[in-house]
Amino acid sequence: MTPAQLLEALVGTASVSGSEDAVSGFVAKQLATMGFKPRQEGLNVWFEVGHGGPRLLFVSHLDTVPPCAGWSTDPFKPHWEGESLHGLGANDAKGCVAAMILAAQMLASGEVGAEGTAVFAFVREEERGGLGIQELLPRLGRLDAAVVGEPTGLKVCAAQRGMLVLQCAAKGVSAHVAHAKLGENAIHKAARDMVKLESLAFDAHPLLGTTRPVVTQVSGGLARNQVPDLCEFVVDLRTTPNLSDDEVVARLSAELQSRVSVLASGYRPMATDPGHTIVKAALKAAGAKVPVGSDTTSDWAFLGELPAVKAGPGDTMRSHRPNEWLSLKELNAGTKFYAALAREFFRLKALEAVHG
Ligand SMILES: [Zn+2]
Repeated sequence: MTPAQLLEALVGTASVSGSEDAVSGFVAKQLATMGFKPRQEGLNVWFEVGHGGPRLLFVSHLDTVPPCAGWSTDPFKPHWEGESLHGLGANDAKGCVAAMILAAQMLASGEVGAEGTAVFAFVREEERGGLGIQELLPRLGRLDAAVVGEPTGLKVCAAQRGMLVLQCAAKGVSAHVAHAKLGENAIHKAARDMVKLESLAFDAHPLLGTTRPVVTQVSGGLARNQVPDLCEFVVDLRTTPNLSDDEVVARLSAELQSRVSVLASGYRPMATDPGHTIVKAALKAAGAKVPVGSDTTSDWAFLGELPAVKAGPGDTMRSHRPNEWLSLKELNAGTKFYAALAREFFRLKALEAVHG
C-alpha cells in the first residue's frame, strides 16, 4: 500500500466514535501485513518497534466525530482533489494514524531497535471521553514519554488546555410581577454574575494565556408574569495547567452570587517542561525553536504524569467541520517528523545515560 492508499483506506473505513470495529480490524490486519505484531485490546490496536532502552509512546485515535452539516460530498466516501484527500477523519486524526504507521515502517527498517522502543497505540473513543487510551494505557508497560497525534500543522505543543464545566444557580424569591419589590429576581442576579465573569482575570500560562470562562447555556423563569426564583447557567472554562480545577471553582464561588457546582471535569490541562527531552526531540524533528500551546484538549489529558507533546500533520481548524481534508505533502511530512522524533529522542536519551 502506498501512503495515499493507506490514508484513503483509513478514511474510507467509517469509524464514528463508538463504532470502531471495522477500522480497528483493518488497522490490525494492515499492520500484520507490514510485518508488525499488532495486539488488539478491545477495539484499540497497539504494537512495538524495537526492544529495550527508553520507551516512547506514539498515540492517536481511530474514531471520528459524526459528520456535521455542510459537506459538499459524502463524508464517508473519500475522494481526491488533486493531492488532497477529502473525507471524514482525514485531518482528525487519520492523517496522524497513517503517518505513525508509515513512521513505524521507517523505524523498523532502520537502526532504531538498538536504542529504544517505539510503542504505537491507536485508540477508540477519543472524541467522546478518552475511554480507549484510559483502558489501554495500563497495558503498555513502562513508558518514558509520549507523542499525541493530533493535527497541529507539525507545531510542537508542549501545553494544552483542559476543560471544566460548571453549573451556576442564582436563587431568588418569587412574586407577582405587579409586586416585584416583594421578590428577588434570580435572572437579574444571574445576569450580574455573567457580566462579572467576562471581566474576571486569571493568571496567564506562558504558552496558553489565561483561563476563559464562557457562558454557554441559560435557563430560568416559569411564567411571563412571575418574578423568577431560580436561574441556572452553564459555564465552560478551558483551563490552563497553572490553576487547579479546585482553585477555579473556589475563585468563582467567591466572586459570584450564584451557587457554583462542577458539572464535568476530568480533561486535565497539561504541560511539559520545554527543557524536557521529549520537547527538545520534537522541536529538532520539526525544525522549530520553541513549542506552542494548544487550545483544544485530547487524549493527552489522560496520560497522567507522562511527559508528552502533541503534534501531527493537518490543521486543527479543519477538524469537526465539513469537507475536512489532508494533503499527501502533509502526510509525508508527518511521517518523516514522527520517525525523526523517535530517533532524536532515543539519541538524546542515550547521551543522557552516558553523561548522567
Ligand atoms: Zn482528534
